[in-house]
Amino acid sequence: MLEAALGEDLNGSSARKAWTLQSARLLYDLPFNDLLFKSHSAHRANFDPNSIQLSKLLNIKTGGCPEDCGYCSQSAHHASGLKASKLMGLEDVMIEARKAKEGGASRYCMGAAWRSPKPRDEAAIVAMVQGVKSLGLETCMTLGMLSAQQAGTFAAAGLDYYNHNIDTSQRFYPEVTSTRSFDDRLKTLQHVRDAGIKVCSGGILGLGEAVDDRIDMLVTLANLPVPPESVPINMLIQVPGTRLAEASPVDPITFIRIIALARLMMPQSSVRLTAGRTAMSDEMQALCFFAGANSIFIGDTLLTAPNPGDDRDTDLLQRLGLSTAETGNAR
Ligand code: SAM
Ligand code: SF4
Repeated sequence: MLEAALGEDLNGSSARKAWTLQSARLLYDLPFNDLLFKSHSAHRANFDPNSIQLSKLLNIKTGGCPEDCGYCSQSAHHASGLKASKLMGLEDVMIEARKAKEGGASRYCMGAAWRSPKPRDEAAIVAMVQGVKSLGLETCMTLGMLSAQQAGTFAAAGLDYYNHNIDTSQRFYPEVTSTRSFDDRLKTLQHVRDAGIKVCSGGILGLGEAVDDRIDMLVTLANLPVPPESVPINMLIQVPGTRLAEASPVDPITFIRIIALARLMMPQSSVRLTAGRTAMSDEMQALCFFAGANSIFIGDTLLTAPNPGDDRDTDLLQRLGLSTAETGNAR
C-alpha cells in the first residue's frame, strides 16, 4: 500500500499517478523516522543533499493591497501600520539585484502587493525582468492574478518563474481570503504554465487549518498537470493588526512532516523553506533540510517581515556543511 502511495521508485521517473488525501495521509502518518528516511532518500535521488539554493526577495510595491488575505501585513483591510508605496523605479531594483548577486543569490524574486498588475504597469515589469536577467540572475515575479495575455508578455520578456501560492486547501481557502477564489488561483497557475514560465506555488501552515487541509494543499499541487518546479512552504508570521495575529503557532514536528511529504509527493521540485524561519531553531531548519527542503530566501527582510539575515544563515549553512547551489533544478 505504501509502495503504491510512493509509486515505483523515489526518483520521480516512475509514471505519475493521482494523489489522494488517503494515499498522502498514509505517508504523513508514518513514524517520524520512517517518513524522514523515505523523504531524505527521495531527496538524495534527485538533488545534491548538501546543497541549498538561495533566492532574494524584493518588495517592488508595498502595501495598500485590495485583497483581504487574513495573514497579510500588506492588505488594505488590515491596520498593520504599513505605509503603502508606489511601484519602485528600475534603477533602485537594479541596485538591489546587484547586491543580491554579490550576496550569493541565484534567483531574484520581486513581489508587488496587487490584486493583479494594471496594463499601465506592464512595461515597467518587463523592464525589471530584462534588467535583472541581464545580470545573470534567474527572475521571479509575484504580482497577483495574471491573465493569459499578461503571462505571455512576461514570458516573452524572459521571466523564469512566477510565484502564486494556493496557500491552503480548497475547503479552507474561503476562511483565509474572501476577495478571490481558489479557482482564481488555479486559473493564474494555468496561464503561467501555458505561457512557458516555471511555476512557484505553495502555501502557509498555521492559518488555523486542519492537518488534512495541509495535506490536501499538497495533493492539489502534486496533481497539477505538471507539478510546480518550486514549492514554498511558509510558516505563518503572526503580524499585529491582521486577522491572524493571534493564531496558534505550528508544532515544529508537524511542520517538518509537511516538508517531508512535499518532497515525497513532488520529488523533482525545489521545496522552499520560506517565511517564518526567524521563529525556527537551527535544529528545526536542519531537520527541514534533511527532510527535503533545498531552498531558502536570504537577507534580513522578507517582503515586510523579518528574516534571519546573512550572518545567521552563513553560520548555519557552514555548521551543517551545506554549500550553495547554482540552481534549484533536479538532477
Ligand atoms: N500579492 C501577491 C500574491 O498574493 O500572490 C504576492 C505577494 S504575497 C505577500 C506572497 C506570499 O507570501 C503569499 O502568497 C503568502 O503565501 C506569503 N505570506 C504573506 N504574508 C505572510 C505571513 N504573514 N506569514 C507567512 N507567509 C506569508
Ligand atoms: Fe495582497 Fe498578496 Fe497580501 Fe493577499 S498576500 S493581501 S494578494 S499582497
